[in-house]
Amino acid sequence: MSVASNLQDIRASLREGITLVAVSKFHPAEAILEAYGAGQRVFGESRVQELVAKYSELPKDIEWHMIGHLQTNKVRAIAPFISLVHSVDSARLLECINREAERCGRVIDCLLEVHEAQEQTKSGWDSDALYEYVATGAIAQMKSVRIRGVMGMATFTEDTDVVRADFERIAAVKRRLEEYFDNSFDTLSMGMSDDYPIALQCGSTMVRVGSSIFGQREY
Ligand SMILES: *Cc1c(COP(=O)(O)O)cnc(C)c1O
Repeated sequence: MSVASNLQDIRASLREGITLVAVSKFHPAEAILEAYGAGQRVFGESRVQELVAKYSELPKDIEWHMIGHLQTNKVRAIAPFISLVHSVDSARLLECINREAERCGRVIDCLLEVHEAQEQTKSGWDSDALYEYVATGAIAQMKSVRIRGVMGMATFTEDTDVVRADFERIAAVKRRLEEYFDNSFDTLSMGMSDDYPIALQCGSTMVRVGSSIFGQREY
């Protein structure tokens, strides 16, 4: 199947208002251009070096999303152009994004990544630690970041009950945080190739789909 027809199939399965992030990590610029030619403008990458290289060579109307773990010493490289950081998992990282955004005269949209999956390898806030942090009001002092919502991943398992329970908990974290933010806190980034239909049933507004669009990645 071609990238264009994969995209068409996935789009057909998404309700209006759901954002499709095409996860292009490990795929070459040509594959991205194929998706771009089919109308896709939102792409997600997980490594800064690869993201910066692709940003430089690809059309400037692409909206780039950072979906992978982000180290503070890499923020400066993406601050001038990044549209949305899905993976804010610490106060220190958020403060760093705020500083770098201010340096560039930008306001950078961010999602708070929550850790609800069973694997320890996955990153993100523990939900109680996140509630505590948000309740301090520290975020309101940061004028160069805008918190758009929450991102999360489900446990990697065939057991759809476990996956659904993970997504329900992530959605609940988002609902619980709503009172601290304004109407721009509207995004729930959940769901990948294998589990996005379940994520949508649990209220996802943004799905991050890689292999179902571009095929298997070669690491
Ligand atoms: C790689 C990745 C995806 C896409 O995964 P697929 O299974 O290829 O759809 C989505 N979200 C994150 C955070 C990823 O790292």
